[in-house]
Amino acid sequence: MPRADGRLSHSLDPTEQGPQDRCGVFGVWARGEDVAKLAYFGLYALQHRGQEAAGIAVSDGTGVVVYKDLGLVAQVFDEPTLASLRGHIAVGHTRYSTTGSPTWENAQPTLRATPVRRDDDRPATTIALAHNGNLVNTAELHRQVQELGLVDDATSDTALVATLLASRPDLSVEAAALELLPKLRGAFSFVFMDEENLYAARDPQGVRPLVLGRIERGWVVASETAALETVGASFVREVEPGELLTIGDDGLRSTRFAKPDPKGCLFEYVYLARPDSVISGRNVYAARVAVGRTLAREHPVDADIVIGVPDSGIPAAIGYAEESGIPYSVGLVKNAYVGRTFIQPSQTIRELGIRLKLNPLREIVRGKRVIMVDDSIVRGNTQRAQVRLLREAGAVAVHVRISSPPVMWPCFYGIDFATRAELIANGLDTEGVRASIGADSLGYVSLEGLIAATEQPRTRLCRACFDGEYPIGLPEDGMVGKHLLEGVQRRLPVTLPERSRSTPPATLGERNQPYGPPVAPTPRNLPLGAPALGEQGVTPKGAHPHR
Ligand code: SF4
Repeated sequence: MPRADGRLSHSLDPTEQGPQDRCGVFGVWARGEDVAKLAYFGLYALQHRGQEAAGIAVSDGTGVVVYKDLGLVAQVFDEPTLASLRGHIAVGHTRYSTTGSPTWENAQPTLRATPVRRDDDRPATTIALAHNGNLVNTAELHRQVQELGLVDDATSDTALVATLLASRPDLSVEAAALELLPKLRGAFSFVFMDEENLYAARDPQGVRPLVLGRIERGWVVASETAALETVGASFVREVEPGELLTIGDDGLRSTRFAKPDPKGCLFEYVYLARPDSVISGRNVYAARVAVGRTLAREHPVDADIVIGVPDSGIPAAIGYAEESGIPYSVGLVKNAYVGRTFIQPSQTIRELGIRLKLNPLREIVRGKRVIMVDDSIVRGNTQRAQVRLLREAGAVAVHVRISSPPVMWPCFYGIDFATRAELIANGLDTEGVRASIGADSLGYVSLEGLIAATEQPRTRLCRACFDGEYPIGLPEDGMVGKHLLEGVQRRLPVTLPERSRSTPPATLGERNQPYGPPVAPTPRNLPLGAPALGEQGVTPKGAHPHR
């Protein structure tokens, strides 16, 4: 049965995946509350951060159980299942895979138990771990797991972390975490639990969001503030970069495991986060409206109406209209109830393309010069289809305005963009992209304009997908990528493309240099829609460095 999937505008074209987040995480510690239900509603509010799988682990103080499956939150859980998950601690996860394949085994929370020690009659401790983000030293962790003689056939960085956490039966889970967390590189917002405590930890750069909230009988942690509000929790503060929180019968304890060096993801403001969430004190909707205003100042054009591509292009369109004085109107209507039915579309459905999910309001756009505002361009196929739809509906001109700078670089910290070769802005300048998508004009907001709209200092933001300055060094051997561990297990060669290996990662983070030189436009990546586009400069499937 089709369901509302919460996906944003890039998912409108069934043949083109937009940027996908690594996941939403949720945790609750509250005696006397139905924590499984709270986790369910928390995950429901975070559905936009991942639609491949969902899971909830609970503990009643004596044992941890997990229920997880592939699918949307509302597909995975029903009343009887939730009623069977009893306890006062819960950890929940909604997944999009940015390492490992979308298999049941890689769904989260990931469960691992400590080995029982021969000299100790204490029972094993079970750990359930949920992760938002992506580690970049996964290969190193995999080697560590092997050196310890631990068998682990999981294909995700999260599973390795859970295995390593559970490998220290001589330590409390908190102590094991404090030992392990400083050794992790990359983006991680972890929510995890054992039989007695709830834990939350954020990488020293705080790339992915993670917030702490309070309910009457306990505490809640979640990827976004919108999830706190959904379960009636009041916002307390963000989990600090480099901080581990331990929540149990003794209350809440905060421990620093690393010096904070904030580099929050700029793309959260553009597209990933819900508009009703607040990141670093800035409401996401307000930031998007402000970007739209800047866009209007930077790229003015004569037109009759401003429309936004639902959902994430709409606030910027409103801002553009406010600043330019050109009336805002709804010009594209999204069918919110088309679910994941068309992930692998048949040829007939592929030909229907974007029409399945988006319909122009002919009465509004006919005879008009339209400014269409969208949040970002990845491959350009979606925008090309949108422009065509508007023209077919009678628009006499379509001016495209984009509320982020050109996406030029892949993300290694938990966002699944196209491969670098597939990023349209990587091979074409603005005029080339305009011609490719068939617009009358095209304007991207400047990086400075976007940063200003977030009200964060430039130095506290990761902007790597726009400027190539990766704030967390990448491994020198190029051992990064979504299917890295599957490649390792199948003994596949795992390499970065030649151009991406050119800058040693040890100095990369220190010098903030782009990871490899820009790719020069070539005839092969000029005409968009060309079937061979994605093949350019790509390493073998399963060993791909990009997501
Ligand atoms: S590279 Fe882009 S998407 Fe990835 S964390 Fe940095 S700003 Fe966010």
